[in-house]
Amino acid sequence: MSILKIAKIGHPILIKKAKEINDLGSEKIKKLVYDMTETMLDADGVGLAAPQVHIDKRIFIYRNPEVENEDKININVIINPKIKILGEETNDSWEGCLSIPGILGLVRRFVKIEYSGYDLEGKPISNIAEGMQARIIQHEYDHLDGILYTSKLAHKNAIGFSEEIEKFWKKNEK
Ligand code: ZN
Repeated sequence: MSILKIAKIGHPILIKKAKEINDLGSEKIKKLVYDMTETMLDADGVGLAAPQVHIDKRIFIYRNPEVENEDKININVIINPKIKILGEETNDSWEGCLSIPGILGLVRRFVKIEYSGYDLEGKPISNIAEGMQARIIQHEYDHLDGILYTSKLAHKNAIGFSEEIEKFWKKNEK
């Protein structure tokens, strides 16, 4: 396995629509997922989409902090994902992105979604996600369409360095 270089905001691959994967279940895709996993864990992220490691493919991985504990890390992969929004309800929460290091933005997302796609073996998967998991999936899915969270801020000024956000925004939320 190897740690891949992460593309930062400003790199054109991050604003490009990624291509569907045809070789489902192939060793090449598995290797990519293993490398992406190592890269995400090394960077201490909760999600990573292929364009973030300069790969023009519709695939992302994510962790689900809601089902993790100290000795169990939960890594999910979705290949050629589709998302269906369930209901109109949205909420706002702070998001970071490995391609925009040190920055947090307040982003509006749908609360409940249904996602589908393929797993590492090429088998179809489909499930419903809510809350944090739904938020992470929407964030990673957007990367495949060349969309960064900076274009989905709940308020145009609700973005900044994480230390300032902790100090001036999060404190006032409680
Ligand atoms: Zn991101």
